[in-house]
Amino acid sequence: MGLFKKSAPADSGTITMIPAAKPIIGDEERAAVDRVLRSGMLAQGPEVKAFEEEFSHYVDGRHCIAVNSGTSALHLGFIAAGIKAGDEVIVPSFSFAATANSVALAGGTPVFADIDPRTFNMDPDHVESLITSRTKAIMPVHLYGHIAAMDRFEAICKKHNLLLIEDSAQAHLATLNGRPSGAWGTVASFSFYPTKNMTAGEGGMVTTDNAETARMLRLLRNQGQEVIYQNEVVGFNNRMTDIHAAIGRVQLRKLPAWTATRQKNAEYLSANLKGVTTPFIAPGTTHAFHQYTIRIEGNDAAKRDLFMTRIRERGIGCGVYYPTPIHRLPSFKLQLDLPETEKVIKECVSLPVHPSLSKADLEKIVSVVNDVAAAL
Ligand SMILES: *Cc1c(COP(=O)(O)O)cnc(C)c1O
Repeated sequence: MGLFKKSAPADSGTITMIPAAKPIIGDEERAAVDRVLRSGMLAQGPEVKAFEEEFSHYVDGRHCIAVNSGTSALHLGFIAAGIKAGDEVIVPSFSFAATANSVALAGGTPVFADIDPRTFNMDPDHVESLITSRTKAIMPVHLYGHIAAMDRFEAICKKHNLLLIEDSAQAHLATLNGRPSGAWGTVASFSFYPTKNMTAGEGGMVTTDNAETARMLRLLRNQGQEVIYQNEVVGFNNRMTDIHAAIGRVQLRKLPAWTATRQKNAEYLSANLKGVTTPFIAPGTTHAFHQYTIRIEGNDAAKRDLFMTRIRERGIGCGVYYPTPIHRLPSFKLQLDLPETEKVIKECVSLPVHPSLSKADLEKIVSVVNDVAAAL
């Protein structure tokens, strides 16, 4: 995703850039890794088990199965949920490619729905209009940390007898009506990639409320075996190492405070930014602010790009997540009519919101964005 490129100042070396994202790795993470290295047991073991138990507290006590990436979590989740060739899964096109890749890798067919431009998440009405006799599941993505309309999706799935699956890669600790992301779907997936709200280096977590599905997920991640050399199903090696789990455990302890800081940073930005459309927070939700995404209204990508160039020149890192809707990527190449997705893709810009921002950083973001927006 190119997020670790040093964003060089456009004109001189004198401007320091406020980065768009910044993983926080401290002494505790280093000590945790060292502890595992010294133990001599590096692969999946007690750290992974402890990480799963600790993560479970944040998803209403559901079964948690740690894997080597968020993509693996989605992929194994679909297989364990029974998605197979010919099954259609409705997903947003306005997401990271892994959302749809994982459906296709499980043998299913992603069917792309449009979004509600206010929340950037799938529009329940459009989703319902796409249901066919082959539809097997609906998978909302809680994009940027804003939980999707899960109460609506839950009702739609009940009515049409479909599976509800969550891509919660960006939404650790987001809630709707007090119920956390990852505690709604038959299966849900989280990512611990370095730019996410917490990291394990790389890693993912599948959550489920079903003990049989949990057992299948444990088999699938480990060559189909629960007892060594007694392979019950054809499985993968998608295990998480104890090294990664040890990092994840430390980060999980810090996640609630980091999330609160993200929310405070977002509140400050929304109270002070002018001339841009600030993020909407739907009633009943708590937003995890993986990204703080504004819109430069006008359905004009050139205007948005000019805005980005100008704020970068003045030291504000920013990004477009994601510049091409999944259905138009060379990997899918579909011609679809998703007008809200196409419009938002030309207007969205994500500004820094991560917990390392200082008060001075926030003030600088506000003054630069307001200046540039006023002159556009
Ligand atoms: C990051 C991400 C993934 C994939 O997670 P990885 O850990 O990078 O494999 C899937 N879906 C969304 C929406 C993501 O942001």
